[in-house]
Amino acid sequence: MRISGVKAPNKPSNQADDTFHFAAIPIIASYPVLQHAGKEALPVVHVGDRVEEGMLIAKATTMHSANIHSAIPGEVKAITSRVHVNGKKMLFIDVATGGRFRVQAKDAVRDYSNWNKQQILSELSSKGVVELDGSAVPIHIKWTTKEKSCSILVVDASEVDAYLSLAQQLLKEQLTAITSGIAIAARLLEPKTIVLVSNRTFSAELQTLSQSLKEITKLEVRELLLDAKYPYRHERLMVYSLTQERLLPSVSAEDKGMVISNIATFIASYEALAFAKPLIDRAISVAGAGVKHSRSLIAKLGTPIGFLLEECGGLTAKNATIVAHTAMLGKMVIDLDTPLTKEMVAIMALLPKETKSARPTACSGCSACFRGCPLSLAPREMYQSIKANRLDIAHAYGLSECITCGLCSYHCPARLELSQTFVQAQDKPTLTGRQ
Ligand code: SF4
Ligand code: SF4
Repeated sequence: MRISGVKAPNKPSNQADDTFHFAAIPIIASYPVLQHAGKEALPVVHVGDRVEEGMLIAKATTMHSANIHSAIPGEVKAITSRVHVNGKKMLFIDVATGGRFRVQAKDAVRDYSNWNKQQILSELSSKGVVELDGSAVPIHIKWTTKEKSCSILVVDASEVDAYLSLAQQLLKEQLTAITSGIAIAARLLEPKTIVLVSNRTFSAELQTLSQSLKEITKLEVRELLLDAKYPYRHERLMVYSLTQERLLPSVSAEDKGMVISNIATFIASYEALAFAKPLIDRAISVAGAGVKHSRSLIAKLGTPIGFLLEECGGLTAKNATIVAHTAMLGKMVIDLDTPLTKEMVAIMALLPKETKSARPTACSGCSACFRGCPLSLAPREMYQSIKANRLDIAHAYGLSECITCGLCSYHCPARLELSQTFVQAQDKPTLTGRQ
């Protein structure tokens, strides 16, 4: 398989510096009750209630759900139904800041070395930890091996998007937490091998991590350095890079005995166990030419996106497009009060030249979409088939294999909404004949 992609710069040209900044505390933090894969959480607070930092405010309703905690102390001001940036309507819990912060102090380290697997999984679940690569799968589900065994634990320390420079900073600044978090996952999953995947430019940081892991886990630790190209870190492409095997649409990495987790997830898991810290903040990149200074922040969940943009010097242009999550996979933000949630890896502020917004024109047959597709699918044919209501033909061209990475749209000179069309078509039931 030929893997193409978009090359990532070493760091955004307007990046202010190479260290994390702690974002300021918002005046009001908002928490949508679904910011994880699975079922909505159920509010357990009422308007007027006082909450502490780290207090449970919405409880997981099933195993495939996640607890939500308040990132700030204060008072519940409203619980209202609104539309989240993902287009789904749900309850939001709004908390106005007031009172004393307690969770941030990391002086009391717990000894969890004698905990059994069930105790560890239960604590990760209780603290609302989810996979922090954007998928937001509850980690107590992902790191459970009830049905499938894990032979390879893949530590994803690569950049999620061509615009971002988050992974390298985490590797530099949070090595101890990452190492301890990987050791926790290794205890739960019992892999034979740990594979560290990162960009070629991070080899020094990866070697240090590799050395610490070998000493702590006594497992085989391998390193896989990839070109810093989007979308190499997608699960299916990572499996291909590791095994040279192309997964069928119905087969996941876990079916192949691999569990892939992002380094930010290991940090959150370690903090949950060592400091009893719920998932109330996360590392996030604020980037793009539309913001004055691209920065990596540690920000409280629930903080309005507009607040985070101000933290980075504000917008450079009124017509900047704001995107929650990554430039390729994110959703456009209309309301700057949209809160930071567990699923967001980045906030992008893009200028018109970066969004390349223009009216779509007719397909010229240039094949740029085919050349740009990392899975060598036929985006033009898939698009034309969907438009002709022939989902059966679109599937024959690879629609179900499409990872909706957006690269075909990125390369298309006719500005056709290729990947957006594929996302919608994939949501429809599997079809076998003319519609
Ligand atoms: S969105 Fe799908 S078809 Fe387009 S480049 Fe990505 S994988 Fe290929
Ligand atoms: S890149 Fe766009 S214009 Fe070129 S063949 Fe593909 S769909 Fe047509």
